[in-house]
Parts: sequence; structure tokens; C-alpha cells
Amino acid sequence: MTNNRIIEVLHEIAELLELKGENKFKIRAYLKLAAFLSGYERELTDVYAAGGKDAVLEVPNIGEGIGKKIIELLQTGKLKYLEELRASLPEGVETFMKIPGMGPRTAVFVSQQMHAKNVEELEALLENHKLSGMKGFGEKTEEKIRRGIALYRRGESRKYLNVAFAAAAEIISELKKRHKFTRIEYAGSLRRLKETVGDVDILAESDDKSVMDTFTTLDCVKDVIVKGDTKSSVNTVHGMQADLRLVEPGAWGAALQYFTGSKEHNVLLREIAVKKGYKLNEYGLFTADGKKKTESASEEEIYGKLSLDYIPPELREGSGEIEAALKHALPDLIVQEDIKGDLHSHSSYSDGSDEISVMAASAKKMGYKYLAITDHSKSLKVAHGIDDKTMLKKIKEIDELNKNQKGFMILKGTEVDILPDGSLDYPDELLAKLDIVIGSIHMNFSMEPAEMTERLIRAINNPYLNIIGHISGRLINHREPYEFDYEEVFKAAKKTGTALEINANPERLDLTDVKVKAAVGHGVKLAIGTDSHGTEQLGHMMYGIGVARRGWATKNDVINTWDLDKLLGWVAKKRKA
Ligand SMILES: [Zn+2]
Ligand SMILES: [Zn+2]
Repeated sequence: MTNNRIIEVLHEIAELLELKGENKFKIRAYLKLAAFLSGYERELTDVYAAGGKDAVLEVPNIGEGIGKKIIELLQTGKLKYLEELRASLPEGVETFMKIPGMGPRTAVFVSQQMHAKNVEELEALLENHKLSGMKGFGEKTEEKIRRGIALYRRGESRKYLNVAFAAAAEIISELKKRHKFTRIEYAGSLRRLKETVGDVDILAESDDKSVMDTFTTLDCVKDVIVKGDTKSSVNTVHGMQADLRLVEPGAWGAALQYFTGSKEHNVLLREIAVKKGYKLNEYGLFTADGKKKTESASEEEIYGKLSLDYIPPELREGSGEIEAALKHALPDLIVQEDIKGDLHSHSSYSDGSDEISVMAASAKKMGYKYLAITDHSKSLKVAHGIDDKTMLKKIKEIDELNKNQKGFMILKGTEVDILPDGSLDYPDELLAKLDIVIGSIHMNFSMEPAEMTERLIRAINNPYLNIIGHISGRLINHREPYEFDYEEVFKAAKKTGTALEINANPERLDLTDVKVKAAVGHGVKLAIGTDSHGTEQLGHMMYGIGVARRGWATKNDVINTWDLDKLLGWVAKKRKA
């Protein structure tokens, strides 16, 4: 648990207490500690790890009462007190507070004054413009809440890739502990690495019906929707529905192909089968009369029988992959093994939770040749952006650390803020001392598209800027992207030798798959970065690679598949131009 997350919790408690009309001094104590922590140089989790409870209680501004709560947070990641506070609010408030853009105050108002108890009733109020006449509510606020509800609904029905992946991985590993399977795999949009996932679909090759008893009683199962001999569905603690299907031996390829989808891809594939005198369904590839089954044991055999090259799951969207497979013109997609390093990470210098040396050791263990530490720049105060002087100190520290590295290099980097006018948040002389520079937009999102395009292009034209980070600013299920002219930005990036990032954080995944394909079409280079704020996030690379593959990108399109010399040569070239 990072200090930032703890600060969020403290703010929420203060807000809830205020809504309940609690004692001012009590509220102020939480806010005071939050303010103190935002400038505190150590992570409380480190303080706790090093010195236990006593050390935490010795931190200034942490009194006995709040101290206990902080320790509970550090130990369990949860806080009972906060959960109780939330639950003590009027009906509906808890749900309303999950709607992006709706604070506690609005949530309570809507619940108490307007008597809305659920999202549907809130929508009815908006529909009839019942809120716009109220104090503090204009049409703009109504529109904001309406957009928030749309995002909330999307979040309820489609989850982040890492959540879906965790659910699938847990179920499969638990089932494997108790049963023997010749094959067990997840299918559906998770296998296609789509940016969000509705349900987790798992297939297992087995005729042992007792597997369903195990599945429906797993620890992670919250409730059972339906239990059958060959198919069961449950809701899991990950907040997702998971389906398990038993597939009989010999039909594995057909089932995996069918349940991987997409629908669009499968419709096209079935048409090809019919043209060739076959019938294709989840049970196999049959002769046209449906009597004789031909090869169905593997996907490769099915695609082969239809005279198609094997189509990787990430491409199965019905967007040209079948034509390409017929012509043997599918791209040679990038794979994890191609990745030589991670170009976007944060250390404890800004808002990361681990020190540079710890991040580097983790990256090295993953087999990487380099890791760029790209902390935030000074204007980004909420994320502890670092000033010019601290940056110089950091450069020195990295140079020292690199002296002891063999076959690995920590790259001196930054994720510098692109200011509203398109200039960068550090002077060129300082950027020149760094190995690689990402420029990102973190503030002033609401600009006219033309202005935003200009802002991005001016940044791209800076000879020291190498990568544009998370280009659209979107947060999946939380914040819509801002608008700009992609074509113009692609052209500028291509012309200047600037890469565009695929941010591998499951909440960002930006550039999107569709934009990746367009960028590759323009000859623009890509950089896949995890934007890790701790070592545990370095593994998110797989989601970024998924987006790259869905965008038909090959190894040659991605700069962090290059070895160090080539990468640094590329940076130097732009600086000289
Ligand atoms: Zn960023
Ligand atoms: Zn970042």
C-alpha cells in the first residue's frame, strides 16, 4: 500500500465524517495527516517493514487512533472502519460514489434530497431534468453524471485484463491441483487479450464429471449460477462470472476455436468452411452432411484444412485477418521474448513504491537488458514530481548504480509533463543529460482538439523528446480520452523519429489496438512501457504486448525490442537532427 493510496483513504474518511456531521477536530486530524504524508519522504510501508508498529506510531502527526487504522491498512490493505462508515450512509450512496465524477456530497444529496436509491432512479431524475434546477446543479453537471453512469455500467460489465487474468489463473491452477487434464485453457476475449473482459471462459478436456463439484466449490467462488455435467457458471470474488466447459477428447481444437471468438471472426470462418464443403461448429469440423468428423483436435488443423495460415487469437476480430491468412500474408507478431527492456517506470523519487536499485534488480531478473526510470517532472505535484536539482542527484545515483551492472543498464529517464503550450516541464539542458525522455499529458485535458493536436506536435518536435506516453489520457471505465487529430500526430512522429507508447497498465492500454494498427501503417515506431509504480507491475508487459499484437505489430515496429546500442543510437539521431 503506497502513501498515495493511504492519502486517498484519509481524504475519503474525512469527507464521510463531514457528511455525517461529525466533530471538526476529528475531521481535521485526518486531513492534517494526509497533507503531511503528501510531502513525507518515506513510504509508510517501508517504515512498517523496517521497524514494525512502533516505528509507524513514531511518524509525526500519526496519533494512537489513526495509527491503528494505518497499521491495519498496511497489514491487510483494507480498513474495517472505512467499510462501516460507507455502509452507515443512506441507501444508494455507496453505489453513487462509485460513479466517476460523483463525489460523496452529490451522492448524499441525490439519495437524501432527491430520494434516488439506485442508478436507475438516478437516471430517471436526469432524464426529467429534475437535478438541473437544484442548487449547485447545472446542465453541465447533469451531463457529467450521465457520462459517469455510462462508464460505471461499462466497469460493472467489463473488467480489466489483469483482473480477468488473475481469475482465470487462480481457477485453472486450483482445478489442476485436484484433477488431471490433458488440456485446460482459458478462451474468449481474455485469450484474444481484448482490453476489457466480460466473462472468463475456461475449457478443460475431460470426461470426469466430478470436475464440476470441484469447480463450483472453489474458494474463489461467491455463488453458483448454474451447475451441469459439462457446463457450469459461477460468480467469483474477482467480481466476474466464470464458465467452465468440459470438452470431449478429439474436439479440443473445434471447441477452443469456437469459444475464443470473436463472433465476427467465427461467422467468416464458417462461411469459408461451407464454401469448401464442410460444416464447422464447436464440436468439430464435419463433412457437409454433418456425418463425418475430420480434423478437430487442434486449431492449427482446422485452419489448415480450410487452407488458412494459423491465425493467432489476438487477430481474430474479423478485420482482415482471414483475407491475410488466405494470402499467407499475416504479420509475424511480436512476442514477449522479443522485449529487451522496459522504457517506462517510476521509482520512490516520484510516486513509485520501490527504490531504483530494487526496480532494476527485478527487471534484470526478468531477463531484460535495460530499464528506464522515468519519474515525473516538477509540475506534477500530486505525483511528487521532482525538481531540477533532485533530478541531478538522481542522475548521479544511477551513474553510481550502473558501475556495478554487468549486461544490464539503468537508463536515466523522465516522464516529463507536456505543458498546455506544448513545451516541456524541464529545460533542454537538463533533458540532454538523460538517456531517454517520455513526454506525457497529465493536466489541462479539456482543450479543443485542434489545440491539443498542436500541443502534442510541439512536444514531438522537441529534439529531446523520444516517446509520447499514454497518448489519449483515457482511464478505462473511469475517464474518456481527450480528442486530437491522430493522423497529424502520426505524421509528426514519423517525420521526427518519435515513438508512441503502448502503455501496458491495464487501466490505460493506450494507444489502443486500432490506433496501433494505424500508427504501424504510417511507419511510426512504438514503445511498450509498463508505467510500473512498483516491481509487482513490471509483469504488466504482457498486456501491452497483447495490444501490440492486436494492432498487428511486429518486432520491428517496437523500439524496446532493440538492443541498447541501437536504442541509444536512435535517441542520439533525433538530438542531432
Ligand atoms: Zn503518466
Ligand atoms: Zn508514468
